[in-house]
Amino acid sequence: MQTTTGKVINQLRLNERIEQLSQIGRISETGVCRLALTPEDMDGIIQVRLWMENAGLTTRLDPFGNLIGRLEGADQALPILMIGSHIDSQPYGGRYDGAIGVLGALEAVQCLIENGIQPHMPIEVIAFCDEEGSRFNKGLFGSRGITGQLEEGELERQDKNGVTRREALEAFGCSPSDFEEAIYPPGSIDSYLELHIEQGPVLEALNAPVGLVTGISGPLWLTVTMKGMAGHAGSVPMGMRHDALVGSAKVIAAFDDMVREDPEAPTVGTVGSLRVFPDSRNIIPEEVSFTVDLRDMEIERRNRLEARLMNILDDLSFRYGLTYSLTEDTNSEPRYCAEPIKSVIRSSAEEIGLTLPELMSGPFHDALALSLVCDYGMIFVRSKDGISHHPSEYSSPEDIGLGTEVLYRTIRRMCSGMNQPIILPEEAL
Ligand SMILES: [Zn+2]
Repeated sequence: MQTTTGKVINQLRLNERIEQLSQIGRISETGVCRLALTPEDMDGIIQVRLWMENAGLTTRLDPFGNLIGRLEGADQALPILMIGSHIDSQPYGGRYDGAIGVLGALEAVQCLIENGIQPHMPIEVIAFCDEEGSRFNKGLFGSRGITGQLEEGELERQDKNGVTRREALEAFGCSPSDFEEAIYPPGSIDSYLELHIEQGPVLEALNAPVGLVTGISGPLWLTVTMKGMAGHAGSVPMGMRHDALVGSAKVIAAFDDMVREDPEAPTVGTVGSLRVFPDSRNIIPEEVSFTVDLRDMEIERRNRLEARLMNILDDLSFRYGLTYSLTEDTNSEPRYCAEPIKSVIRSSAEEIGLTLPELMSGPFHDALALSLVCDYGMIFVRSKDGISHHPSEYSSPEDIGLGTEVLYRTIRRMCSGMNQPIILPEEAL
């Protein structure tokens, strides 16, 4: 099966599956809408399930709406190697986000089978339910589900038509009353691997088709509200104003400057939403709310920046005669990929002549939920112009093939019968 490029995986089969899956829920030339737990999502599951079964996997749809294809290992009692991603999409999404992780995992495992390699431990290929969180406004549902991380009231969340998640799951043939027994017991998952498009511009800028993920950065989400005093735009002299929008604008600019200070650091900061009250052209803004999204791989650095943002708020509020209040909407810590798995991915890429640049993941992935229960590793594939969650999202078949090949070789090493990643000596890397 070896090709001239040294690839073992079946590139044509992978290309065809990606193309075929992208026809389900297709909304334009290249756009896809496969919202979680909709008929389009089910059509995608039926298709992927068929491919899994043809490859020789035993499949099931679990109570959380996850599609799982299992390959038994030589030793059934060992903790499993789980590999996957998601096939739901954003409402105006692209063809590759999530899909290449599920179809790449299937291709890799199918190649193991076709090459007569029996893994020591069982392998499960999984398409997680509702990673995107677009329909019920909360994502990573399936991956949080199997790891016991669902929160109170999640089943009562409604989509924009008033359908609850519970109703949508039931219509999907999934029963929330079976959740408990579908949770994987602690220790039953040995490791998790995920192949995903980068959704950012870093690999493209480095001219690299594939990258090694160091971890998923922890976002801090704040909502800041600055309050001043309204007044007529024509009558209040400049020296007497308490303009909440001017104060907020200064804070936002100072925040951006601060995050940019160290160009070597992967820190990113964004103010993506702003609300002005009363929002009228001839009234001095009385109250402004804006969001802050701050991410970093180093929690200490992120905490230092957060403290400095508080100083900026104090200083500028004082200078512009404003008061402010804060709410913390999300505060999650960075989750690092396991060193031994990174080492296996690196060596696997070396085998086909690839040196992988290392980069962090700003966006969430299902791997984030899995990172709380097992070691994990992630492989990124270059995204054209860094675009994602949009029909113009693009990764070339060659790049996806290389990422899948690295995944295949990583799995082959990890399931080689020792239940331990093979770690090459330093000089061989
Ligand atoms: Zn995704």
